[in-house]
Amino acid sequence: MALRFHNTLGGQLEEFKPLHDKQVGMYTCGPTVYDFPHIGNYRTFVFQDILRRWLKYRGYRLRHVMNLTDVDDNTIRKSKAAGRSLRDYTAKYIEAFQVDRQLLSLEDPEIVVRATDSIEDMVKMIQTLIEKGYAYESEGSIYFRVGAFKHYGQLTKIDLSGIRDGARIDSDKYDKNNARDFALWKAPKEGEPFWQTPIGPGRPGWHIECSVMSMKYLGETFDIHSGGVDLIFPHHENEIAQSEAATGKPFVRYWLHAEHLIVNGEKMSKSLGNFYTLRDLLARGYKPSAIRYLLAAVPYRRHLNFTFEGLLQAQQSIERLRNFRDRLTQAAFPAGENAALQARARTACQEFEAAMDDNLNTAEALGAVFAMVRDANTAIDRGEFRAGDRAAFLDTLERWDQVFAVLADNDNAKLRQFGLGKEAPATAGIPESVPAAAGAEAAIAGNGHEGVPLTQFLTDEEIGRSIDERNEMRRKGDYARADEIRQNLQKAGVILEDSKAGTRWKRK
Ligand SMILES: [Zn+2]
Repeated sequence: MALRFHNTLGGQLEEFKPLHDKQVGMYTCGPTVYDFPHIGNYRTFVFQDILRRWLKYRGYRLRHVMNLTDVDDNTIRKSKAAGRSLRDYTAKYIEAFQVDRQLLSLEDPEIVVRATDSIEDMVKMIQTLIEKGYAYESEGSIYFRVGAFKHYGQLTKIDLSGIRDGARIDSDKYDKNNARDFALWKAPKEGEPFWQTPIGPGRPGWHIECSVMSMKYLGETFDIHSGGVDLIFPHHENEIAQSEAATGKPFVRYWLHAEHLIVNGEKMSKSLGNFYTLRDLLARGYKPSAIRYLLAAVPYRRHLNFTFEGLLQAQQSIERLRNFRDRLTQAAFPAGENAALQARARTACQEFEAAMDDNLNTAEALGAVFAMVRDANTAIDRGEFRAGDRAAFLDTLERWDQVFAVLADNDNAKLRQFGLGKEAPATAGIPESVPAAAGAEAAIAGNGHEGVPLTQFLTDEEIGRSIDERNEMRRKGDYARADEIRQNLQKAGVILEDSKAGTRWKRK
């Protein structure tokens, strides 16, 4: 089956055919770097990572551009309140975002650009829009004339009849009922940063930033643009209007939008006390791989209901898959092959691929792999599995992980690298003091999930070392110490099984 995506523009599933054979140009709206992104933002970033990994899996060469919005209403307001320069203030959050990305195994886009590094190009595009009659000046600001662009509303399917010609809005964010001429360039305000340019002093509006940065690196027409559904209006609608008015060409061929994340069935918000950044979850002892898994597991066009129970289940699901992999690689199987079993592994791989081709149906892709694991475990228990069958199953698992990227046992190493998260021993309960992250104190204090067990994060390597040490102690006859090591591993969620062939281990 061909690769299909739901295109917001046409409102339906469409076969994906890039403009240039196997080369794909993709733009994703990056974060506005004035605060730590919350897990709803990361739902979209994980979806975009799955999307880019799947395109590569299918043999496309990818040019993925992501922007960092380091000048807009929010960054200016917050940097001013903090008494720091815009560049200095946003640098901290750019760095935090890059750390978060590594924790969540998000691949780096081919090109990452800061908006403030493209001001000159934005000015040029605004000049073009003025020359073509799509933009006008008023009190030092420059606005896009929505009424002059006939196709305005094509993404949102908006009714333009209520829009009064010449009515303007200065804010970058507004709703559909408030659609009107929007700011391309904003006149300087007292105490705000501005640039001296041929169109006058000022700073860019948010929407023009993405039009300019995407077309600069991907050309006037490119394949994929994606973001969260909250960006459809006005941000992406305005990007289309500016870009197509300036070039006279179609801007983007496929628009992909990820649905909202909700928490326990409710909209996430600071006032409801259910607002979490990635770091809030790490501070509570959850693993980055489990967070990635949970955010990836629900197909991107469905609401994702985030719960702590879901996060624990995600952690268990990953452990099941890792245990299966370890069982395949560690257990001794009789020589030979079982053709039917190998066919089972290949079928699972095809099912996984078909699910991903179907608009990235990650839930079905997961289902295919778990059904395979169940069947293989049954075969192993019944003594039907042969040494020659290993490769087929490991291959399917490895292919699946090219996209889901949760099998590497490196949570602990990453957390240590960045000095984040919780590496406490596996005593029950929640950490005593939770570092507060960006206004989320209330959320942490009162949400009633204090009973979550923390698992000490041990890597495969560390477990191997402990087992070696224990075996050494047993050889020396120091059974007390050997038993202590076994108990420590058990507290960390690792179970040992001794047999004549040696010691096998698995995670609880
Ligand atoms: Zn954008």
